[in-house]
Amino acid sequence: MTDRIPATLVETIDPRSPIRLTPAQAGGVIHTRSFSGLFRNLRRYGAGALFLLFFGTAWLNWGGRQAVLWDLNESKFYIFGATFWPQDFILLSALLIICAFGLFCITVFAGRVWCGYSCPQSVWTWVFMWLERFTEGERNQRIKLDAAPWSVGKLLRRGAKHALWLAVSLVTALAFVGYFTPIRELTHELLSLELGLSSASWLFFFTAATYLNAGWLREKVCLHMCPYSRFQSVMFDDSTLLVTYDSARGEGRGPRRKDADHRAEGLGDCIDCTMCVQVCPTGIDIRDGLQLDCLSCGACIDACDTVMDKMGYARGLVRYTSERALAGGRTQWLRPRLLGYAAMLGLMIGAFGWGLQTRALVSLDVTKDRGLFRENGAGQIENIYRLKVINKTQEPRRYALSLVDAPPFALQGKRELLLAPGEILDLPVSVALVGRQAVSSSEPLRFEVVDLDDPAIRVSTASTFVSPIDR
Ligand code: SF4
Ligand code: SF4
Repeated sequence: MTDRIPATLVETIDPRSPIRLTPAQAGGVIHTRSFSGLFRNLRRYGAGALFLLFFGTAWLNWGGRQAVLWDLNESKFYIFGATFWPQDFILLSALLIICAFGLFCITVFAGRVWCGYSCPQSVWTWVFMWLERFTEGERNQRIKLDAAPWSVGKLLRRGAKHALWLAVSLVTALAFVGYFTPIRELTHELLSLELGLSSASWLFFFTAATYLNAGWLREKVCLHMCPYSRFQSVMFDDSTLLVTYDSARGEGRGPRRKDADHRAEGLGDCIDCTMCVQVCPTGIDIRDGLQLDCLSCGACIDACDTVMDKMGYARGLVRYTSERALAGGRTQWLRPRLLGYAAMLGLMIGAFGWGLQTRALVSLDVTKDRGLFRENGAGQIENIYRLKVINKTQEPRRYALSLVDAPPFALQGKRELLLAPGEILDLPVSVALVGRQAVSSSEPLRFEVVDLDDPAIRVSTASTFVSPIDR
């Protein structure tokens, strides 16, 4: 039995090449090795939480309807007990901006950890890799299978892999489309083969997109298609935590006996086993220094820590650290850029919360009728308006319709409105000038709608009253 850790060359497209190209550099297929460790576990928890959120929320009911549903036909967005209308989409835009800012904050703090742990592209790719390992075996078996001629065994393994990939892709597409079409109806239509053309097209599109992105394109999406990967490096500073190989400690690299005094032999702690490369989902060698292609997933840290444990060396030859710490300084946790981002994020979350809290639960649009004015039976000048009242709550509501500071104007007709949950009432009303003669050809007036059960819910909208001034 030998206690020498074998050094293995990284596979290259051309095995005769003296240059040790990683599969990514060589443009080949990346077959990652299995590994275990803290960061793999963290990623599993992150993926589990994301899956639970994505699939669980799609199927969750709340108050008798799907909890989260963007009804495109009715232009309404239901999210738990609240209904958002096109007028509220400014709030949704604000939410997206907050998410983007949160991402900037995380990137300044710890680089591409979002990419490595939570980005759906990475998470689904890890799941597809796991299915690949389940059907085609470990890394070496997969490499052999790739090179082997077609046989029944290869066909069965490949077939099983693609069938599982397609099944996961279809379930993913179903959940995604289910956020825009009631998911229970959609599933029923799918199972009874009664899908409409639109639903079928979207399901097909998202199934194909998931299958191609997570099954075939994988790291190429992160390396060549994701715009975020291109510009996020400008957010790094010398205290940003990045996955880094400690070259001062690791070099010169090379195989050695476990009990050898490697320092005396002029060797560093890196035994050149290439485990860090073999587990890397983007196929890069972290020992080449900081690279744009690194997703900060920590897989190489887990792999290298396992090797260090076996060798009896201290962990952390590859670790999350900052450029500043690596140069012998101290990582600055509370630095102006990070504090600035965090303060902005806090302010935006506060403003969003305030906007949500004070969001009008009833809306009133007023459109003046095209006819300027007319004279009614009592000889009064009258204007016609079309009111659009929306009950934005999910309960029936009674409202009082009135004019603010009414005299000299009088509202004719209906004053109390009963609206069903989410109802849009289109109401023509007339207003007459009753108190006095017109003083101007155009005078301001304001309509108001007040919730009779909760007077705090009210909205008013301005318009104008037009008169013949020469009267
Ligand atoms: S850095 Fe660690 S995992 Fe990578 S080759 Fe060196 S010893 Fe092996
Ligand atoms: S170099 Fe390490 S942290 Fe970066 S992507 Fe590869 S395995 Fe993940």
